[in-house]
Amino acid sequence: MRAAEALLLGSAVLRPVSGIVNNGHGGGCALGMIAKSIGVSPRVAYKSYSWFVDKEMALPCGCQAPRNYYNIGAIIAHLFDAHIMNKGYHMEKWTMEKWTMEKLVAWIDEQDPTPREVEVVVEEQKELVLA
Ligand SMILES: [Zn+2]
Repeated sequence: MRAAEALLLGSAVLRPVSGIVNNGHGGGCALGMIAKSIGVSPRVAYKSYSWFVDKEMALPCGCQAPRNYYNIGAIIAHLFDAHIMNKGYHMEKWTMEKWTMEKLVAWIDEQDPTPREVEVVVEEQKELVLA
């Protein structure tokens, strides 16, 4: 399952709570939602999506942060906590740009290096209509 799909499914199961992967009371952050929907612990989820750790980039939200690059897992945590839940530290240096879960799902899918499953497209046979 692609990570974006796992987040979408997990967001229907876990109530959004910032700063914790799973609070044990049905709530958790985006990484907790991803882990929940693939049925593993957050640590195993990181292993399942190794690009969460391996791939690094600048924050896509324009926030000032101590480092220039962060791994995808850290960025997901930041985007969820800061831009969806409006929570976190160093908020004075953040843009506070509002993100939705749908935007986060789309962003994660853009970063995902996993090849997409090939969709089988059956073209409809168009009938020629002679006037
Ligand atoms: Zn930010």
